[in-house]
Amino acid sequence: MKKRILCITLAVTIIGLLLFSFAAVQISYDSSIENAKSYLKVYVGLFDDGYSFDNEGAAAFSQKLDGARVTLMDSSGNVIGESEQVEEIEINHADRPEVESAKSGGSGFAVRKSATLGKNMAYYCKSMQFGETVILVRVAIATASEWAMFVDVLPTIAVFLAIDVVACMIAAYVGTFLILRPVEKMAKEATLGKEVSTNYREIQSLAAILNERNRSLAFQMSELQNEKELVIKTKKSKDELISNITHEMNTPLTSIKGYAELLESGSLTPEQTALAYKTIYSQSERLTNLIASIINYNEIDSDDLPPYDVDFSSIVKETIAVVLPEAEKAEVTIVDCVESGVIVSGRHERLSELAGNLIRNAVRYNKRGGTVTVKLNEQLFSVEDTGIGIAEENMDKIFSRFFTVDKSHSGKNGGFGLGLAVCKRICNKAGWTIGVQSRLGEGSTFTVNFNKPRS
Ligand code: ADP
Repeated sequence: MKKRILCITLAVTIIGLLLFSFAAVQISYDSSIENAKSYLKVYVGLFDDGYSFDNEGAAAFSQKLDGARVTLMDSSGNVIGESEQVEEIEINHADRPEVESAKSGGSGFAVRKSATLGKNMAYYCKSMQFGETVILVRVAIATASEWAMFVDVLPTIAVFLAIDVVACMIAAYVGTFLILRPVEKMAKEATLGKEVSTNYREIQSLAAILNERNRSLAFQMSELQNEKELVIKTKKSKDELISNITHEMNTPLTSIKGYAELLESGSLTPEQTALAYKTIYSQSERLTNLIASIINYNEIDSDDLPPYDVDFSSIVKETIAVVLPEAEKAEVTIVDCVESGVIVSGRHERLSELAGNLIRNAVRYNKRGGTVTVKLNEQLFSVEDTGIGIAEENMDKIFSRFFTVDKSHSGKNGGFGLGLAVCKRICNKAGWTIGVQSRLGEGSTFTVNFNKPRS
């Protein structure tokens, strides 16, 4: 960058300097010619008939003019006197431009290289009348050519060029430093992810571009970070799921294997044999339930079936009817506070599962003589019980997969800790919120809020 600026500055100033020199030489040349013309006019004006109209007269007049060349011609341009002692003097000069002008208009001026003397000369010729005789008097003095003048000033130009190169190097260095300083500051700010700012109007658009780039980069980075976290979370959750499933399967499988080995050994009494068959059957059933629960849980998310308007009141009332025998057996009373005609958007089987899980849990984790109050209106569905309650530290875990407060009861009555996780998934998918309020030993209330705007 610095090199390029230096080269450009140098090229511009060198070209400028040369152009300036040519112009100066031209002006000075023009002025010297004008000077010569004025001198020559005065010189010619000094001629009079005191000089003879021949070589001697020309030489005498030349002497008076400090050696300027004098040529005397008759009115036709025939040379009659010449001050220069040249070997070949042309007889007639009528074709010379200054002579031609003098013949027609009284005087003429011309500058050219003399064919006779081989030098650059300025000529002034005037037609003068002495009595009957017309004489063309021409005086010439040597002038420097443009090229000679340029060659004369070349050493001066060379000195200026040297000074120019040094000045350019300093200017390029300082200029580049001053130009690049705000840009470098901006680059530094952009690299550090700071807001890029500048007082220079010319590069404010660059600052805006850098800021925009930085913002979009930061956004992309955070997206990447989120994706990375999601991948880690998904992997962790998958690992946990596999570990939970293997753990849940392990107990029934060990039991089945143990009883099968005993049966194979043939050492069991008929009563023990009957118990072994019963256990193998119940544990197989437990395994089947577990697999069915897992498949059902996974299906909720992959299920793309569209929702439709469902009469949730009917579903809840049907569920209460189904759970009633179990409640009676547990000596739990179900209080029905279900408003009729509550329509929600969903799928019948999923809503039935939601109501079933909450009401069944309220009966299952209740006390003898306890009650379960089921409420449903346009805004919410809640199931309140007077059961064992949930400890504070378990409140936010109960909606996680495979979480059961009492591990010793896990798997009994199909309870693998998936019921509430299923409820949460169903609610999430519908855009509803599910929460719980509970006091250990006093009871719990599970509430599903439909998040409907109140009319
Ligand atoms: P499960 O099939 O084991 O009942 P859930 O996911 O339905 O699984 O419940 C998870 C755990 O939350 C249960 O094991 C239980 O400890 C606790 N829980 C659920 N409902 C209630 C309730 N109404 N009262 C007290 N504890 C409950």
